[in-house]
Order: sequence, then C-alpha cells, then structure tokens
Amino acid sequence: MYLSDMHTHSIASGHGTVCTISEMVKKAAQQKLKLLGITDHGPATMAAGTPSYFRNLSICPRKRFGVEVLYGIELNILDTEGSVDLEEDLLSRLDYAIASIHCYTYSRKSKEENTRAYLNVMKNPHVKILGHCDNPKFPADYDTIVRHAKENGVILEINEASLAPYGYRGDTRANSMEILQCCRKYELPILLSSDSHGTKHIGDFTYSADMVHQAMFPESMILNNQIPRLKVFLQTR
Ligand SMILES: [Zn+2]
Ligand SMILES: [Zn+2]
Repeated sequence: MYLSDMHTHSIASGHGTVCTISEMVKKAAQQKLKLLGITDHGPATMAAGTPSYFRNLSICPRKRFGVEVLYGIELNILDTEGSVDLEEDLLSRLDYAIASIHCYTYSRKSKEENTRAYLNVMKNPHVKILGHCDNPKFPADYDTIVRHAKENGVILEINEASLAPYGYRGDTRANSMEILQCCRKYELPILLSSDSHGTKHIGDFTYSADMVHQAMFPESMILNNQIPRLKVFLQTR
C-alpha cells in the first residue's frame, strides 16, 4: 500500500475531467493516502488551468479530510530547449512541477531531440519530476536522462495510467522496465503516480506496483511512503 499520489488532475485540467479539488482530496482520504499532489495541466493544454488558477493555489488549504495537499502543475515541455508553459513568477508560488511531453503541445521529434528536451527542462529548478517518459511515441535515451536527473535533483515516475489497460499511450512496459533499470544503475529514487484525471484512479497503483515488483526494484528507492523525505525533495529548489 502506498501513502502518496503526487500526479493527479482536477476539473482545472479540462478535457472532460469534472472533479473538484475537494472531491479529489476526499477520495484520497478514502484511499488512506497521507499526501496528495494536485498537478493540473499547464496553460498550453486546451481548456486547462489558467495562469490565475495557478496563482491562487498558494492560498488553498494545506490539509483537508486529514490529507496533506501539495499544489503543483504538470508543465508541457514545448520544444527541445525545454521551454515550458508557465512563467517563473507563477512557478515559484507552487510546491513543485512535473514536466511532460504531450502530443498536442509538442511535435514529434527524433530520439536525440526528445532526449535534449528532457535534459534542458531539468535545468529548470522548479521541475522535480519527469512525467510519463515511457511514452513510445516520444522515444528517449533513458540512460542519459536518468544520469542527468541524478545530477539535477530530478526523479522519474512510473505512471499507472501508462501501464493500466485503460491507458492510451500504447504498450509502455518495456520502456518502464528500462527506466527502472537505469534508476537502479544510477541509484535514483522513483515515484509511482496514478495520473488520475478526476477521482477515479487516485491512489491506484495496481499496474505500476506490479512493474516495480517484476523489476525487483528496491522498496527503499520508492518515495511514495517516505513522506517527510518526499516533501523535502519536492519543495527544495
Ligand atoms: Zn501528462
Ligand atoms: Zn498527468
């Protein structure tokens, strides 16, 4: 059982997600989570969070229904320079940022170019997690990415929505396995994340937990249950 889920989306992410932050936290409490991260899509995603939404998160309650809440963002990586879709001033008000490549805000590129995009976005001190690097549509050099992540204080996630049958990224298992092998090689911790859009999959790590088990990935390198260490990690620039 895992106690935190740091990649979830509320109604502010648009595209059909209708759950409010209150409903998300209530579900997290039912799932017996101790810590929930709300990470709505950045403004480049159609109908997603606006700059004013992200500006106001800093005044939202930090604890609800017995669950501690961190407020972040899932940034869109826009190009090989690692440009993202929220300005520094607003990013600095949030607890942390996930940076991900999405097909509507990033055109298909070569493996070398995708790798460069990840390396460059890690130079942004607000980026603490690379989101779903497992996507086969955007091949990347995991060994290079994980080595740089270790140097830059960034971690990678094992994304439940990629691995679950309801996922839409295709078969990501080989890529997730390779990510785990590289993280083990460079002793980089990982995070399991549901990437739940709405309440439905909050705290559900069925397939990602199975993957780390298959990879015989050390439990001590999975941050979900190390709440104090995780909070310090996410909030340190
Ligand atoms: Zn995403
Ligand atoms: Zn997401």
